[in-house]
Parts: sequence; C-alpha cells; structure tokens
Amino acid sequence: MFPRDDSFCLGINSSCKFSTKSATWMAHGVYPHTAFTWPFHWIWKLEIMPKIKIFLWQLCHNALPVRGTLLQRGINIDPSCPLCLSNIESIEHLFKDCLVASQVWEATLTHRWIPSNISPSRYDSLHHCLGYIRLGPGPLLRQRFSFLLWSLWKARNATVFNNDFFNLLHCLIQAKKASAEWRIRTRTSVDIIHKGTFSPFLLPPI
Ligand SMILES: [Zn+2]
Repeated sequence: MFPRDDSFCLGINSSCKFSTKSATWMAHGVYPHTAFTWPFHWIWKLEIMPKIKIFLWQLCHNALPVRGTLLQRGINIDPSCPLCLSNIESIEHLFKDCLVASQVWEATLTHRWIPSNISPSRYDSLHHCLGYIRLGPGPLLRQRFSFLLWSLWKARNATVFNNDFFNLLHCLIQAKKASAEWRIRTRTSVDIIHKGTFSPFLLPPI
C-alpha cells in the first residue's frame, strides 16, 4: 500500500508519549510538531447534545446534504434554496447569506438573545464566524449559537420533507426552547451528582 522500505520508528506525540495515532502519523511521514490541528476541537467541548455536535462537525466539513452539494455529487436535484428559492443552496448560503435565514439572525438581535458580533452576516464567511465563536463569546452564547444553527437546519428540513411553511419566529422559539430545556436538564443532573438529591424548585434559565 505504501511504497516504502520497512524500518523501525517510535511514534510519540507532542507530549513525548507513545500513541497508536502518533505512530500512524509517523508511518505516513507526518511528525507531531507539523501535524494538522483541526480548528474546530471546541465543538466537542460544547455543552450541547451530542447530535448537535455531530451536526456542527458536518457543517464544518461541508458534509451536510444541502441541495447544491448533492447536485455537485451527481444527484439530479433542483439546487435552489428551499427557503428563498432564489439561490443555490450551499451551507454558506443557508446559514449566512440566505435572506430568509438572515431574518432569523435579525430576530435574535431584536430579542436580544445573541449579540450582533456573533451573527454570521457580520463576517466574510461562515468559517470566519465559527472561528470567532471558538474564541470570543462565553459558553452560553456558544451554546445559543449552536442551537440556532440546529433550529435553522431542522426548520429547513421540515420545509423540504414536510412542505412546512418556514416561520422565522417559530425557528427562533424552537432554538430558545431547546436551549432552555437542555440547560434545565443538565443543571438537574449536576444537582443530583453533587447534592445527592433532586430539587424540583430549580430557577428557570436566565
Ligand atoms: Zn436562501
């Protein structure tokens, strides 16, 4: 498979410890200090549902099955954006440039749910915006941003597969609801672990 002579090598990572991963890199001629660092590791540290982490991973790898991507991959499909019907549906378009999706981001500002500096429309690209999300806001805003992307995707799918009418306020409310439910659920489990008892009188999320 690899046209190289057999040789001995010790695969060590940047902490000078052996791992099968670092050994595999060395077998491919990639050394720890030159190895590619994936810029979206923060996704796995988000306090959100695993299915949303996987969704974000797919988004960052251009792996969501939007219509433009499906057409590029040889599927005979109308690539029009199902929300605005006036552009090719790419990930960049759906979550950043689409006029309909932009109204959802605007509504989040009007409702003061997220600040304008984490709205994708302020950035050159969605990846630039995600780069800021990694470094800039605190965990709560990162969580809200993620839930809103997820809500947009779910609403888009309901439009495509169920012929639902896209309602921007419903999309925002669903994101808020999912975020609040998740925070209540995870706070409750933390209380159980630390206190050993469950209090039914937890304050609602701010
Ligand atoms: Zn659109």
